[in-house]
Amino acid sequence: KPAVLNAAHYGIAPERISPAARRVCETLQRNGHQGLIVGGAVRDLILGRKPKDFDVATDAPPERVRALFRRSRIIGRRFRIVHVYAGRETVEVTTFRAHVDPNALATDEHGRILEDNVFGTIEEDALRRDFTANALYYDPIQGVIHDFHHGVGDLQAGVLRMIGDPEKRYREDPVRMLRAVRLATKLGLTIDAAARAPLRRLAPLLANVPQARLVDELIKVLTSGRALHCLARLQEEGLAEHALAPVERLLAVPHYRTFLEIALDATDRRIHEGKPVSPAFTLGAMLWPVVREAWVAGEQAGLPRVPALQAACDEVLSGDFAALALTRAMAADMRELWLLQPRFEKRTGKYPYRLLTQPRYRAAWDFLMLRVCAGEVPEALGMWWERFAHASEAERAELIRAAQ
Ligand code: ATP
Ligand code: MG
Repeated sequence: KPAVLNAAHYGIAPERISPAARRVCETLQRNGHQGLIVGGAVRDLILGRKPKDFDVATDAPPERVRALFRRSRIIGRRFRIVHVYAGRETVEVTTFRAHVDPNALATDEHGRILEDNVFGTIEEDALRRDFTANALYYDPIQGVIHDFHHGVGDLQAGVLRMIGDPEKRYREDPVRMLRAVRLATKLGLTIDAAARAPLRRLAPLLANVPQARLVDELIKVLTSGRALHCLARLQEEGLAEHALAPVERLLAVPHYRTFLEIALDATDRRIHEGKPVSPAFTLGAMLWPVVREAWVAGEQAGLPRVPALQAACDEVLSGDFAALALTRAMAADMRELWLLQPRFEKRTGKYPYRLLTQPRYRAAWDFLMLRVCAGEVPEALGMWWERFAHASEAERAELIRAAQ
């Protein structure tokens, strides 16, 4: 009973799929399995957008997938998936999973699913996905889309519709509430009335979601290309206070908010230009005004400039905002960006040359330019570094002389 649609009618051509993902589907099918592109990529292609990544769904269990691809690895514990590596690309291969009755699965007292590794058929796999637009399977070999829940029609009507009863689906996984708002904002879709209505009432369920998943979702919001708009929508729907308490606190203080707006504008612009954005950069920028405040306070208390900044970094990364740093590596990256900032002040002798050789120089300079936009650092300083970075040896010596 699924609709089998001619993909070409919806603007999906095999050339628009990454060669790696196509090859993964081919290999799976050649070995007697199903292998289809699924989820966000199919949705984005139908909307005429460039997909971020291509996920593959299959009936082959993870061990079998692992055996079919030399360069692959099984990852994850709660959901076991296989990463297949092809050149610089990684294709995520997921085995069809069943949407088992939550009563038969481990759930918490609010109905949230705690464990979910039951393999199933493609029909079952479609049923456990969140929105109809996310439950489309594209077969790049046959050139067809398998549409189990009228997802193509909903997409064409610009509607984000939940599969099944929205309240039940939100209780199973409250993060779906954030996904509804984020995807609708990012893709310019309207959340179907039935899926929108329970949001405010169920928002408190987000308190039961592990912090790490919320921060993951926050990063997706911040890198959606419409970050501020998305945060505003989350506030309107009453979700922000439950999911993004640290961000709420930043938005409430006017000078924090100003910097956040500058940083998110810059992030959106980079995304629209197709440039990469690193979560550490965006989160580091969000927290910068707090760091800066602690830095100034440290200096006023008599600490020298660099130790005052180091103390400020420690304070912010271990205080109220610690949850945003997510991982040790993320915290280290944020810290590095912050600690490189005072080094732009030193324009004598070997200092500028040494700063240029830092692997993170470019990101640190982009960060400096945010501070220029915020009026924290003179524009001339930012421009000096841009000139210095691209100058010849003789010009560099002259720039250093002129800076004294
Ligand atoms: P994005 O463009 O942000 O990557 P996406 O829809 O691809 O959007 P992913 O988090 O990459 O989002 O998830 C891939 C697919 O997995 C989704 O399209 C959806 O079918 C399914 N999915 C993801 N999260 C959930 C969830 N919480 N509940 C049900 N299905 C989900
Ligand atoms: Mg995706």
